[in-house]
Amino acid sequence: MESLTLSKETTLHPPMITVCCICNKQRTGVYTWEPLDVSGDSEEIFTHGFCPDCIRQHYPKISNKIYKAYS
Ligand SMILES: [Zn+2]
Repeated sequence: MESLTLSKETTLHPPMITVCCICNKQRTGVYTWEPLDVSGDSEEIFTHGFCPDCIRQHYPKISNKIYKAYS
């Protein structure tokens, strides 16, 4: 079930970029986050979230729930 949800998410590629609001990495895939590289006049739409590292560090309880769901 979970793998179905994940592959759907990968193929849809929403036009928004998720940026971690703690370390400012951007989400480049389902599990991949990379340092944000934005030029000043970027027109991309950003939405904020938490990368897995920061969730683990700052919200261990939420992290446990999320990673249980995926494992
Ligand atoms: Zn982060």
